[in-house]
Amino acid sequence: MQQLDKQFIDNRWVASHGSRRLAVVNPYTEQTIAEVTAGDSADVDAAVAAARRALPAWRALSGAERARYLDGFAEVLTRRREELVHLSSTNNGKALAEAGIDLDDAIDCYRYYAGQARALDARQGQPVALEMEGVEASSYFDPVGVVGLITPWNFPLVTSAWKLAPALAAGCTVVFKPSEVTPLPEQALAEIAEEIALPAGVFNLVHGDGEGVGAPLSAHRGIDKISFTGSNRVGEAVMRAVAEGSRGISLELGGKSPILVMDDADIGEAADYVMAGLYFNAGQICSATSRLLVHEALAEPLYQALAERIDALVLDDPLDDATTQGPMASARQRDAVRNYLAIAAEEGLNAVRDASHRRLPEQGYFIAPTLYRDVPVDSRLWREEIFGPVLCARSTASEAEAIELANDSEFGLAATVISGDAERARRIGRQLQAGSVWFNSEQLIPPQAAWGGYKRSGIGRELGPWGLASYQEVKHLIGPAGSGPADQSPGEPSG
Ligand code: NAD
Repeated sequence: MQQLDKQFIDNRWVASHGSRRLAVVNPYTEQTIAEVTAGDSADVDAAVAAARRALPAWRALSGAERARYLDGFAEVLTRRREELVHLSSTNNGKALAEAGIDLDDAIDCYRYYAGQARALDARQGQPVALEMEGVEASSYFDPVGVVGLITPWNFPLVTSAWKLAPALAAGCTVVFKPSEVTPLPEQALAEIAEEIALPAGVFNLVHGDGEGVGAPLSAHRGIDKISFTGSNRVGEAVMRAVAEGSRGISLELGGKSPILVMDDADIGEAADYVMAGLYFNAGQICSATSRLLVHEALAEPLYQALAERIDALVLDDPLDDATTQGPMASARQRDAVRNYLAIAAEEGLNAVRDASHRRLPEQGYFIAPTLYRDVPVDSRLWREEIFGPVLCARSTASEAEAIELANDSEFGLAATVISGDAERARRIGRQLQAGSVWFNSEQLIPPQAAWGGYKRSGIGRELGPWGLASYQEVKHLIGPAGSGPADQSPGEPSG
């Protein structure tokens, strides 16, 4: 059995200080396929020290020089694509085709931030238009410093790409803690750092769980900023930890996103978008559009079309090409979803489809794709993030009611609007409280557009230039006009 008993610190594989062994489980076979030795605060100390030592030289490189390493990540991920897609599917349980989409997204992200790093050089020292006579100002973008990156298990290699690529592009050095549930694909990032000869200490990977590594990393005073993706409960704990020392934070948290189907929508198209927005990755998507608001005129035919599509889902071995829904990523996540299904039974929710409509495979942490209709707005299933293949639906009488119900959530990560009139869909989209609104499409996350949520879905934005900015400090040099050309070289190295 594979042993992940080493941490990647200062470009060396060093034995973990911690000794607790955590099982890494294939959620389809339910077999332990590897063991990861959880790190502890001594590993975090060593990783932060290495990142601090590496910072002055790394930040002193030009953006173009750092871009070469980001291209290196993209190149090796592309070369190892097939193996990593297989590994991701085995470790996480996601269908093979979905793991392929994930890896392509990750590769695109490294390439995009290579471009952003190159463009950064020309942005340094740009003049700012002032309305002050005889005075000039110019802008500079310095790295925040040493950053701690903490990620969940639902999109291995993707959520890490969204942090690692912009952090390195900005000139930050990194201590990365992947989820203990999916350490196998993420380990590849350390192997790649070694292969492309990333300078020692720029990227450090510490395996372990929240208690052993995540908490000491968030509390470490040698960390200038934490970027966290995960649950609200843990995100709030991380926020409390970084409050000590007034350090920075970005949070990508949960969601309970709506999908609005307007009265002029095509039923078949709407059903396809609803399916793609919720049952992908067995519903383990932070931006899952898990609240369906359908105009009452279309409700019955849409539920019928969804029932047919749900029945056509193939729940089986994720490595089998015919499979469209794999198991949940862990027994823990399966049990969390089962708990919501028990609440639904207590609440007497009306299931169009649930476990009574299909036989689950004999092995694997499967949850039957489920659709509840006419769900009351005070139901826990309507209001809370379930993180599984469970869709809650309601019919609405008007556009205004659909918008009001869509915004009646403490979350605001994403939303979808389906309408026969694209202009109308865009107009409705402008009224929705969400960071990403898809109209007549689903779950499109190009690296050029921002990612992040309103309200309790998070703080800050990833991807696009905003993702880069979240790893930068902005500086202005201000003085008498006409004092010579702006200095475009990287800032003075500092620890
Ligand atoms: P989680 O919060 O349990 O864990 C996330 C990470 O935090 C893991 O690496 C975990 O080991 C670590 N952690 C646990 N306790 C910690 C502590 N005390 N201090 C520091 N780190 C700690 O979340 P999860 O179950 O892995 O992922 C599911 C959640 O992630 C869902 O709520 C989902 O919505 C959210 N998510 C959000 C986005 C987004 O972009 N907004 C993307 C993916 C997932």
